[in-house]
Amino acid sequence: MWDASKCNLCGDCLVKCHYVDYDRDRAVAEIKLLMEGKDAEILSNCTTCIACNDYCPTGADPSDLIFKMQEKIGACPIVVVGKPVLEAFAGALEGREAPGQLMPGDPHKPALSLDSFRFENFPEGTFDSRLFTGMTIVTGDEYASLVGLVHMGGASFVERYGQRVLDRLASVGKDIVYIHNEGFVLAHVKAREYGFKVPFRYMHLFEYLRDYLRDHKSNITRLGKKVAYQANCATRWIPEYDAFLDEIFELVGVERPNRKYERLNALCCSAPLIHTNRELAVDIQKKNFEDAIECGADAIITSCPVCDGVFRRPSSQFGLPNIFITDLCRIALGEKTWPERSR
Ligand code: SF4
Ligand code: SF4
Repeated sequence: MWDASKCNLCGDCLVKCHYVDYDRDRAVAEIKLLMEGKDAEILSNCTTCIACNDYCPTGADPSDLIFKMQEKIGACPIVVVGKPVLEAFAGALEGREAPGQLMPGDPHKPALSLDSFRFENFPEGTFDSRLFTGMTIVTGDEYASLVGLVHMGGASFVERYGQRVLDRLASVGKDIVYIHNEGFVLAHVKAREYGFKVPFRYMHLFEYLRDYLRDHKSNITRLGKKVAYQANCATRWIPEYDAFLDEIFELVGVERPNRKYERLNALCCSAPLIHTNRELAVDIQKKNFEDAIECGADAIITSCPVCDGVFRRPSSQFGLPNIFITDLCRIALGEKTWPERSR
């Protein structure tokens, strides 16, 4: 959450931003405008990648200020394009649209939350995998993480509907495993910031997969590959969960070579720009894939259905497979084969 008292107007957040070319004076001027509640150019140029939270040395949470101002001013392209989507979400959350879906599983197993994604947003066969056998599945706008709506100008949705979504998940009566980072962030980070109650136990997908692989080591065939990782933007709120991913990579026998665009310096997958600035989106994808190829990766790993969908085009163009994290585990467990390079 934005904390003006922590901002020393150093300008680091916008000087380091990959998507604008501001010197320090310009960066500071932009932040000052936003702090005064005024429009600023960064609102239109921001891809909502959340990286500036990591760049900020004081923990002031500048991306939260930017997202709130994008929604307030309402004129930047992602907000204009996102408006109908947000209206549909509000309708579902207020009970005016189709309810979410709950597919019951074994009584003693936890539930898997898909956020608001549909089954077809995940790789084929994901929910038939032994990874998720017997789990109850919940999906639909009623169970939406809300956190990801910042990419379309919906920064206020967490505050308005966060407790409602958490209560809805609590009504499932099970521990929740979040397959999408944003759902986990609502329970683990935003609930604390906004004082929401989380009356259930929950787990991040990476921790769940790490535990599953540890418990089924004898079924794993180590893959002996190199992979690049495309961090989902919401992982900026939970950097400590990267360690689970490293354990997953170790367990399935893949190496994560150093590359330019990862960890602090990771690039946005470009999804928020596809409908507003396609040229920039394609340019970001190109830099990302060329960097992954240069570091010797055999594939690029995604952990968000949006990143995964966006990467299908550059994956084919650059001949570098993109593999969803659950599929990487399924390959190591013998459920799938390593994808062919397309060139
Ligand atoms: S959220 Fe990303 S694109 Fe937006 S200002 Fe921060 S670093 Fe730049
Ligand atoms: S938000 Fe952080 S990085 Fe940005 S100007 Fe303030 S203190 Fe510096």
